[in-house]
Amino acid sequence: MDPRNLLLVFKTVQKKNLISRTDISKITHLSESTVSRCVSRLLEKSILVEKRVGKSSGGRPPILLDVNNEGPFSVGVEVGETHVDAVIINAFYKILRNESRVIPKGIEMNSLIKEIHDMLTSLISSAKIQKDRITSLGLGLPGIVSKDQKHLLLTPNSHFETFPSSDVLQRILGIPVFYDNGANLMVFSEYHLNKLSTDSILLGVIVGTGIGAGLVVREEIFRGSNGASLEVGHTVIMPDGPECRCGRHGCAEALASVPKLIESYNAKSDDVKITSIRELHELFSKGDTLAKEVLGQEARYLALLLANLANIVNPSRIFIGGEITPVLPDIIEQIRKHFSTQVLPTNTCDIKISKLDQVSIAHGAAIMAMEKEIESYF
Ligand SMILES: [Zn+2]
Repeated sequence: MDPRNLLLVFKTVQKKNLISRTDISKITHLSESTVSRCVSRLLEKSILVEKRVGKSSGGRPPILLDVNNEGPFSVGVEVGETHVDAVIINAFYKILRNESRVIPKGIEMNSLIKEIHDMLTSLISSAKIQKDRITSLGLGLPGIVSKDQKHLLLTPNSHFETFPSSDVLQRILGIPVFYDNGANLMVFSEYHLNKLSTDSILLGVIVGTGIGAGLVVREEIFRGSNGASLEVGHTVIMPDGPECRCGRHGCAEALASVPKLIESYNAKSDDVKITSIRELHELFSKGDTLAKEVLGQEARYLALLLANLANIVNPSRIFIGGEITPVLPDIIEQIRKHFSTQVLPTNTCDIKISKLDQVSIAHGAAIMAMEKEIESYF
């Protein structure tokens, strides 16, 4: 059985609820016998339930399938440098409860794992859910995650270099655990929040301390050959530009990240010095000429990066978000204008400001983990 067929059948029931096996087969173009095998497996795992409702043409009403109200549920966690955010979602990917905790910078690994364990227990108890109905836990990490989603391969934060494999966490937490990169999960959450069509190709660019991106292609996160795709912050947009932390020159991250934007304002300003993106937005709103100038430059850098990416990926929609969000309404029109002059006419697409919030990575992680676990039932 193809694992993807199991997920496809689950998602078809999730979208349509109360649907017959025959109708699933018509919608998915899977054979009736394949649908039947997938349904049996999902019934066995109590992911779906059978209900005898609906119209009948004489005789007993037909048996229809529905998602089990009592589960599956999934937990998503984002581990940051100084915070842990966690959510619990139902089978329709809706957040039921969320929790955020502040952690000390450089927290010991054992204490961090204990914190995750406590949050899992607390979410299960506040949502009044049986632990055995939690299918999985997804963890969003800062860095590149292996394609099997069990290891953190490379992280800009040295503190996380000793992060254990997902097998270790699975033993401690007592449920299957899957890792992914934060940017991937943000884009996955955005894809589901916007209820985009199943054939969408969504590219998300997250601008913060670094510049990351994620790509959702027809409902799936694109991970490249080993999980290291879309390191867009390290694409060169200015040859011989300033040195980047990766050692090269003129990377997008070395020019357009949030710290660089703030640095650029402060370097040109004789009197006013800023420390946050919100202060830059306030200055822009008051008509500060220098704020307009540096944000204009930022719009050109970002437009160039997005146009390069659009010419490669040909997405149906691009969104942009992250720490830079407070100034995006000030520059989004400029980004769109410059973008249209840089991109091939065949690659024009909508650029939107993201709807993401503090728990987006955790939300994406919970969805990813539920889908991975359902696929594993084949
Ligand atoms: Zn770089």
